[in-house]
Amino acid sequence: MRAFVLAIVLALLVAIYVTPDVGADSEYEADQRMALVAFAAACKITHYSCADLALPEVRRSPYLGRIGNRAVYLLTDVLWLDSELKTSLVPIAIFHEMVHYLQYNNGMPHERVTIIRCISEREAFDATNDYFEALGRSSEKISVKKFQDTYGC
Ligand SMILES: [Zn+2]
Repeated sequence: MRAFVLAIVLALLVAIYVTPDVGADSEYEADQRMALVAFAAACKITHYSCADLALPEVRRSPYLGRIGNRAVYLLTDVLWLDSELKTSLVPIAIFHEMVHYLQYNNGMPHERVTIIRCISEREAFDATNDYFEALGRSSEKISVKKFQDTYGC
């Protein structure tokens, strides 16, 4: 009986460790959990209406890093992250793109006109700094100067 139980436990351990996509699945699941937290926080911090919004999905792409982007929101129900994004920046990037998701779904235009881009990025920047604070990471908040240099706003 004891050998039988041991065999089952060993079989389960082997099954867990030889499953090829365990790593990818756990990263995907971790991203979705962070999205859930970021969604709640973004709704609270920005005061946008979230009542009728679905939780967007987070997906990773190696292409973003190659073109110098960490993350992007493309007006769908997906927030895209660079596959190689530093782990500590993942919740922050998800939150920032979540703010754009809330903006777009609450009627903010998404044209790449400078004034609209500056308004939406500044709002996302301010909210992201509030999120840093909520996470107890105030020392990582981004300065207005850095924002201005990054976005040309
Ligand atoms: Zn942005």
